[in-house]
Amino acid sequence: MNNEWDVIVIGAGLAGLTAARYLQSAGIPTLVIESSERPGGRVKSDLIDGFTLDHGFQVFNPQYPNLKNTGLLPTLGFTPIALPFSPFRVVGGVRTPKDLLTPFLRGVFLTEPSQVSSRVRWEIYKSFLRGRPGLVDGGASAFSQALAAPVTDIHYRETVHRLEGDRVITDHATYQAPIVIIATDPVTATQLVADIDVVRMNASTTWYHATKEAVDGAGRLAVTKNGALINSFAISDVKASYSSSGRQLFSSTALSVISESEVRRELSRIWGRDTSHWEFVAQYEIKQSLPVHPQGKPLYSEIEVNSGLFVIGDHRGYPSQQAAMETGKVCAKRIIARELRARS
Ligand SMILES: Cc1cc2nc3c(=O)[nH]c(=O)nc-3n(C[C@H](O)[C@H](O)[C@H](O)COP(=O)(O)OP(=O)(O)OC[C@H]3O[C@@H](n4cnc5c(N)ncnc54)[C@H](O)[C@@H]3O)c2cc1C
Repeated sequence: MNNEWDVIVIGAGLAGLTAARYLQSAGIPTLVIESSERPGGRVKSDLIDGFTLDHGFQVFNPQYPNLKNTGLLPTLGFTPIALPFSPFRVVGGVRTPKDLLTPFLRGVFLTEPSQVSSRVRWEIYKSFLRGRPGLVDGGASAFSQALAAPVTDIHYRETVHRLEGDRVITDHATYQAPIVIIATDPVTATQLVADIDVVRMNASTTWYHATKEAVDGAGRLAVTKNGALINSFAISDVKASYSSSGRQLFSSTALSVISESEVRRELSRIWGRDTSHWEFVAQYEIKQSLPVHPQGKPLYSEIEVNSGLFVIGDHRGYPSQQAAMETGKVCAKRIIARELRARS
């Protein structure tokens, strides 16, 4: 096994994969080490009992420049979801535009919008003005697999434990590279590198239920002004391939862990019917969903924290697929430019 590389990328989430795609296509020998068994990090889904189940309410915006650049969404059967500006269901009454937008944005930021820096809010608003986000066939994992497809030399199920200078120590081996890119989740990044600030994370829990009932109009996102669930919709009405069994699949998200009975009570309130017989399919509690981006933090933080040591990912930008990929792209381009200078 070759243990010496020009670049080692730790983590095959969107940031790490983006960096690896640019570096390898520039001919720079790059190893990717990923602790889990699949690519995509937080962008993942399971196929269970004929259902596609994303880990959380995750959508793709075709106008995010870095998503657009990959050219992947049209090849994956992208379908936009209905947003607040289309006929839309709000539970709890709407008197002002804020009554509509605040509950919706709570689902986007996975916290109160007022807790998010105004610059980040503006970036996200702009992305909604540019394009309608949506879903792809095969779910979030289909996108991650397609993004990873051209990347060679990915070691799955291998966890990096620590860095010692230019050495990367995993549970399998020790590798060496003059350039190391940490593309892990924010919490692991702060454990591997002492020089970056600890990041607080917002949590979320998404529940899936199925019913044979055929609830009309449920493909529109229902948001609640108050209540334990922040949104709910029949995800299979937007993307039929999310349920191959003829049953309607509902995705409902909460910002905290709530009991099954509370979820069912909320579902009944939102959809105006008895949901006690709806089939429970799965529950995904994601304790580390999105990094908190407080007021005053710049949109992007410096990614080269020490000479030859880069830290990338959404926590070095703002919580989104776009920013995670942007940090990967910027990092790779810097390294490629140096390589070209060194060769000339
Ligand atoms: C529920 C939810 C909904 C979301 N919805 C949206 C949305 O609709 N739109 C949007 O733009 N963004 C959304 N996001 C945010 C978006 O998914 C993230 O910002 C983005 O995927 C972060 O990518 P990343 O590469 O920075 O990190 P991650 O996805 O966290 O990837 C890090 C990778 O590093 C690996 N790793 C960790 N530790 C180690 C180690 N020691 N050794 C080796 N590998 C390691 C992990 O297994 C993982 O694969 C959502 C996130 C969540 C959780």
